[in-house]
Amino acid sequence: MDNDNKENFSQTWWKWGDSNKSFHLSDYPKLKRFLENKWEKTLIEDLNLSEDDQLIEISTFTLNDFQDYYQQLEKSQFSNENIDRLKYGFGKGYQDALNILTNKNLIVPDFVLYPESTEDVRHILKKSEEHGVAIMTFSGGTNVTECFSIEGNRKWVCALNMQRMNKVLEIDDISLTATFECGIYGPQLEECLNDKGFTMGHFPQSFEFSTLGGWIATRSAGQESGKYGKIEDMILGLKAVTPNKTIENRDYPKHAMGIDVFPLFVGSEGTLGVIVQAKMRIHKLPQSHNWVVALFKDFESGSKALRTMVQSGKHPAICRLSDHSETKMLSLLSNSEPNGLKKYFQNFMKSYLSKKGYDKPCMLMLKFIYNHTNYTTDIKQVKKLLKANDATILPAYVSTNWEDKRFSLPYLRETLIQHRILIDMFETSTYWKNLMPLYSNIKNALDQKSDYFRNGGIIFCHISHIYNTGASLYFTLMTSQEKGNELQQWNNIKEIVTSAIYDGGGAISHHHGIGKAHRKWYNQQLNNDERSLMQAIKSYLDPNDILNPGKLFDET
Ligand SMILES: Cc1cc2nc3c(=O)[nH]c(=O)nc-3n(C[C@H](O)[C@H](O)[C@H](O)COP(=O)(O)OP(=O)(O)OC[C@H]3O[C@@H](n4cnc5c(N)ncnc54)[C@H](O)[C@@H]3O)c2cc1C
Repeated sequence: MDNDNKENFSQTWWKWGDSNKSFHLSDYPKLKRFLENKWEKTLIEDLNLSEDDQLIEISTFTLNDFQDYYQQLEKSQFSNENIDRLKYGFGKGYQDALNILTNKNLIVPDFVLYPESTEDVRHILKKSEEHGVAIMTFSGGTNVTECFSIEGNRKWVCALNMQRMNKVLEIDDISLTATFECGIYGPQLEECLNDKGFTMGHFPQSFEFSTLGGWIATRSAGQESGKYGKIEDMILGLKAVTPNKTIENRDYPKHAMGIDVFPLFVGSEGTLGVIVQAKMRIHKLPQSHNWVVALFKDFESGSKALRTMVQSGKHPAICRLSDHSETKMLSLLSNSEPNGLKKYFQNFMKSYLSKKGYDKPCMLMLKFIYNHTNYTTDIKQVKKLLKANDATILPAYVSTNWEDKRFSLPYLRETLIQHRILIDMFETSTYWKNLMPLYSNIKNALDQKSDYFRNGGIIFCHISHIYNTGASLYFTLMTSQEKGNELQQWNNIKEIVTSAIYDGGGAISHHHGIGKAHRKWYNQQLNNDERSLMQAIKSYLDPNDILNPGKLFDET
C-alpha cells in the first residue's frame, strides 16, 4: 500500500478532525443548558478563524536555499506555501488552539519537506545539519503537548512531513508480526491487517488522524490497551535515522543479548532521530466481545473492584470507571432530550438507585474481547466480582452511547473552545495504593490554589488503562474562558494540576508525552546523572541539536 497523503489530508489545520464534518453545541442541548446555567450566561461561538486574517512570519527561506536538497528530492517534495507551513506547524492541544485563535502573529516552520524513503530522510538530515536547519518531525500532528512550538534562535525550521512514508513492508502471518513505514495512519494500518484477518489493536482516541511513528515517539496508549498493551509492549524493533547514522536493531521474539538500543527511540519525541520503520506484534482478529456496565456508590469502591478484578486475572480490553462528575457529564452527552417512556424509565431508575444509596453513582464500562465465542462463564465471574464490591449491573447497551461517540467527542471539544470554554485533559498513572490520594490531591490543589478554576470550574475523571500494579487517571477540566487573559488562565491551571500530579507521586504523563508542555517536570524528575546520560546520548546522535530542539532536553 502506497498513497500520497498530501492530497488526501482533509484535517482542518486549525482544529480537530475532518474538515467535512461540523459539530454544533446545539446538537447537545442538555450539555449546553447545563453549562449555561452553571455560568449564568448564554454560550455563543465567539472564536473563529478567517484564514485571510492569519498572519505568519515571512520566511527568509526561498526556493534558492532549497537547491542543495534537489540532488535527492523532487520539487513536489518541498513546499514553502503559507497554508502548508500552517498545516504542519501545530499540534492539537488546547494551547495550540488558543495560540491559533487568539494570536495574530504565529510562528511556524519555514518550509515543509515530504520524504518518500529512508534515503530521502538521510539526505534531508545531512543537508539540514550542514545548513543549520532545525527538523521538526511531523506525522499526524495530533500531539497535545506543544511538540511543535518553535523556540530559540534558529536560522530555519523544517517540518518533516512523514505522511508519504506509509507502506506496509511485511506481514508475517506465521510469527504474527508486521513491519510498516512509520508515516502510516491508524485506519490505513488496521485496514491492511484486517483484510488478512489481523489487528495490531492500537486505538487511541486520535486513531483516525495519528500515525505509527507518532505513537512510538510519544509512548501512546490505545483504548484497548488492557488486551493489546501500550505501544511499547507492541514494538519489536525499529529503524531510525539521525543526522549521521542509521540505527536498526536485529529483532527477536525475546533474547538475552545484553542491552537493547532501540527502546531509546520509544518516547524520544523526535529528539534523537526520525523513526522510519517499525516491526510490530499483531494478533488474530477477535471473534467476539462483550460489554459489562455497572454502577458503584462511589469512585473508591469502583476503584477497589477494578484492582481486585485485574489482580485476579480478568483483563478487559477497555476499562473506564467514571467518577460521579464524569458519570453526570456522560448523561448530558446524548443528542436528544428523553421523553415519553424513556423519560419515565430514567426517572424511575434515578429514584430506585437513590433509595439503594446510589446518590452519586459512578459508572463503569468494561469491554472484554475474546478469540472464541464461549465467554458466558467469564462474564458471569466478572459480574459476580463487581457485585461483591457493591456494584449494580446495568444493561450492556448503556455503553453504546459512549462507544458510538468515542471518536467524535474530540470535535465537541473544539466547538466548546470556540464558545470560549477552557477545556483541557490531564492524565497520569500511579500505583493502586496511591490512586485515590492522588485523585484527591489534584482536585484539592485546583480548589485551593486556582481562582480561575474555583469560580465555576468543572473537573471530572475516569480510571482507564488498568494494570496489576496500578492504573491511569484521566481528568477533563472545563471552565469559562477569561477573555483577553486566556493564556495566563491556562498556564495557571496547567501549573497547578501538573505540579499536583508530580508532587503527588504520579507520572507526568501516562500516554500524552512530554513536549514543551511537560518539559519542566520531566527535567525535574531526572537527577543530574540521568540528565548527563541523556544529554550524552543526544549529543552522540544529534551533535548539532537539529532534531526537535528544546524538546525533552532542557536547553538551559
Ligand atoms: C482528540 C485527541 C485524542 C487523543 N487520544 C489519545 C489516546 O487515546 N492515547 C494516546 O496515547 N494519545 C492520544 N492523543 C495524543 C496523540 O494523538 C498521541 O500523542 C499520538 O501518539 C501522536 O501521534 P501523531 O502521529 O499525531 O504524532 P505527531 O503529533 O505528529 O508527533 C508527536 C511527537 O512525535 C514526534 N514524531 C512523530 N513521528 C515521528 C517519527 N516518525 N520519528 C520520530 N519522531 C516522531 C514529533 O516530532 C512530535 O514530537 C490524543 C490527541 C487528541 C488531539
